[in-house]
Amino acid sequence: MRALQSVVVLAVAAVAATVALPATTATCATSDQVAAYQSAIPRAKAAYFRTHRQARRRQAFAARQSKQRDALATSALACASGSAPLPFFPQGGVVGRDLYLTNTVDLDPGGGIRDPWCGGRTYDGHTGEDVVIRSFREQRIGVPVFAALDGQVREVQEGNKDTNYGDQTLPWDNHVILDAGHGQLQVYGHLRRGSATVKRGDWVVAGQQLGLTGSSGNSSWPHLHFTTMRDFAPVDPWPGPCGAAESGWTAEAPVDTDLYVRDFTFSRAAFSGHLDVPWDDAQRTGTFVAGRRDVHFRVELGNAASISSVRVRFVRPDGSLAVDDAPGVTFRAWRQTWGTWRHAVDLSPGRWRLLVDFDGRTLVEAPFDVVAGEAQVANRPPNPVTATVARVSGIALCTVAQDLVREDPDYDIVRYRYVWTSGGRVVRAVTAAGLRDALPRTAPADATCSVTPGDGRLTGSTARATG
Ligand SMILES: [Zn+2]
Repeated sequence: MRALQSVVVLAVAAVAATVALPATTATCATSDQVAAYQSAIPRAKAAYFRTHRQARRRQAFAARQSKQRDALATSALACASGSAPLPFFPQGGVVGRDLYLTNTVDLDPGGGIRDPWCGGRTYDGHTGEDVVIRSFREQRIGVPVFAALDGQVREVQEGNKDTNYGDQTLPWDNHVILDAGHGQLQVYGHLRRGSATVKRGDWVVAGQQLGLTGSSGNSSWPHLHFTTMRDFAPVDPWPGPCGAAESGWTAEAPVDTDLYVRDFTFSRAAFSGHLDVPWDDAQRTGTFVAGRRDVHFRVELGNAASISSVRVRFVRPDGSLAVDDAPGVTFRAWRQTWGTWRHAVDLSPGRWRLLVDFDGRTLVEAPFDVVAGEAQVANRPPNPVTATVARVSGIALCTVAQDLVREDPDYDIVRYRYVWTSGGRVVRAVTAAGLRDALPRTAPADATCSVTPGDGRLTGSTARATG
């Protein structure tokens, strides 16, 4: 162990060129040692380059540094268990909330399909977890993808179109493949073009950002395809009667199967073409002008495979009902789906409410304002949020508590500014569309997460949490 520690120290001293690996392989490098060596390389290089001008010698020095890093990585991976549990679903959101699990690994070896719960939340031959975000609009804001485990990057594929939808798909996606040792590999697929933050050979630690969610390759909706392999074969981390007896996650909550609303908005115009999801270029609003108006609204749903009734009520400011309608299920009932509706309503000034029931349960209660004229229509900042920080296998997860219908009084898409600080220093700052952000396992343990919601023009109040 001492020999390896001295390797790290010497690298910092910029004389790594003279250092050899220990002759014995009885002790393995630790992940932290590989990470420390790798992070010292830029300084070592800079110091060497100050005194060595020849391109050939500089190249040779850089090659030796990479080789040494690879040797340490190989040593660390040789001692990995190959069966480490996954701390969290490695995407910047919450599964069952803003993120939705559409497909698991197909556990049926034949032509049928089977998910861990003996159901059909998969398709034939699928090898991973497909977790969708709500729109390309969220993809543009950014939904980070993180490393689930420590390991070495084996492959990065980049540069491919990332707005594929429906059957308009392409064979090549953007992805990262991470090796956590002994056949424990992970594939992070369909990434946003140009978002990969790592390159082949890099050592990464769990919780580190690898890229952003996209819709590249064979992807019908913006999502992360996450394959996790043990002994080079895909496994499903969710436990269930038809899956593993024990969870492959350290802290993921069980998958909920109750119908829920993932997103809601009003609009003055029909949700046609790219105004609809997954693009969501619609003009969202929470304010209408008094008079007889077409009120359009859209509900994105999760776990919606069997809906038999819908009820729509418009409640006037005085509490009386302006509309009580049972329009029937006109959208495709499916695991993740959405419906759009239009009602012509005589709108009087004041605070109205829309109530939407699915199978007798009121899942949307959406206030909106009716004003006398166009001049009174004003943008308002997002509603306040609260945040919590939890530590899972050393990774700090900052999670926003948020109402998925009433995030913003104007039903704008909300983006979150996550700023992590420790000892007065910013250790990570990112703007993301999702309800969760992560700090790498090696980040300071006392980091504070500040979250500020914004609608692209106005910001709401900042919530803080420390874990
Ligand atoms: Zn997939």
